[in-house]
Amino acid sequence: RLDPLAELSGEAAALALLPPRAHAQHKGSFGDVLVVGGAPSMTGAALLAARAALAAGAGRVYTALLDPAALRHDALAPELMFREPGAFERMDATSLTVVCGCGGGDAVAAVLPGVLERAARVVLDADALNQVAADTQLAHLLRARSAQGLATILTPHPLEAARLLGCTTQEVQADRLQAAVRLAERLTCTVVLKGSGSVVAAPGRRPAVNGSGNAALASAGTGDVLAGWLGGRWAQGLEARDAAVLAVYEHGAAADRWLALGRDTRGPLSASALIGVLGRAVG
Ligand code: AMP
Ligand code: MG
Repeated sequence: RLDPLAELSGEAAALALLPPRAHAQHKGSFGDVLVVGGAPSMTGAALLAARAALAAGAGRVYTALLDPAALRHDALAPELMFREPGAFERMDATSLTVVCGCGGGDAVAAVLPGVLERAARVVLDADALNQVAADTQLAHLLRARSAQGLATILTPHPLEAARLLGCTTQEVQADRLQAAVRLAERLTCTVVLKGSGSVVAAPGRRPAVNGSGNAALASAGTGDVLAGWLGGRWAQGLEARDAAVLAVYEHGAAADRWLALGRDTRGPLSASALIGVLGRAVG
């Protein structure tokens, strides 16, 4: 049952947030995304996010893998460009959307202070959220961003949200709306609390509950796809909360479309397959 305090984010409202792709625009019009993640043995998470950002229509997508031994090439997405993690310091952070965390492990801690201090738009997922939960200095940098006009979206699943709030996963799940709103206000960020009925909360705004999606999404990597897709959409000029409402809706709707096509004949919905289904939605 929907909490009367929340609004249900339906298809028409979410899709109306999409900016039109005008005829004369060029790749510079659609934003640059940098994905930082992929510690040793986890490079797939960062590649999934980067491929999803491409599929979402970002103008240029860069990937900084934290595994120094990883291949700087993705044969399935030759459009991707690769940078060293330290290269962020030389990039134009004022026009960059950084997606940070995906499979980053503890190595992501080294880049987080610079990213939080400078990048115009930052999506923090997974290991980046765990670093913020463990380090009060990072939480302080995060809170300082909104006062500087820098925007942040956090995409925790319930356990990551519990670590950030200092409570149990059961407490988060018992009142998901309140948990998302508290987190958004405490860290002055837009928050996507993931899971069935993802909640989008932003300071001073009514929370939105997403109505799309199903348990086909319950597989490894779909959260990385959401983070990258969200970064790719946000880079195209939406406001943070609008980008979150839109991307979360689209992510779930892609899984719903997949089910409607007949799961039995198509096998399980892998994170890679999800990117393909999502990409067909781009207008
Ligand atoms: P993660 O927990 O980071 O792997 O992310 C999983 C993604 O799949 C999130 O976007 C969740 O909201 C979504 N997801 C997982 N299970 C379900 C479900 N049963 N119904 C709707 N969405 C789900
Ligand atoms: Mg995840």
